[in-house]
This record gives sequence, C-alpha cells and structure tokens, in this order.
Amino acid sequence: MEKFSCEIHIDHALDMFVAENEDFPIMDKLVNSEKLSTKCDYCEEQAVYIVSSK
Ligand SMILES: [Zn+2]
Repeated sequence: MEKFSCEIHIDHALDMFVAENEDFPIMDKLVNSEKLSTKCDYCEEQAVYIVSSK
C-alpha cells in the first residue's frame, strides 16, 4: 500500500501508515513527473512524498 503526502501532512501520513499497516514506513520524494499528477491523500495540495513499505 502507498500513501501520498504534501510537506504539511507527511508526519500525519507516517503515523497513519504505521497505525494501518503495523509495518515500518519508507518515505521517498516523488519525482517531478509523478508530482504533477498526484495529490496529497489528506488535502488538495500536490503530493511531495510517497510512503510505502518497500
Ligand atoms: Zn496535505
């Protein structure tokens, strides 16, 4: 599972990921082409980070 987050919501995204998956989250910055088409899961801003478990 993957979550997308802006700069503001990354702490929240990491907390939610751990709560939902009981797994250690890995955080990566999105590349520019991904940013343009991806919104934050918690607001309407462009996503900057992706949180996943692999
Ligand atoms: Zn956000």
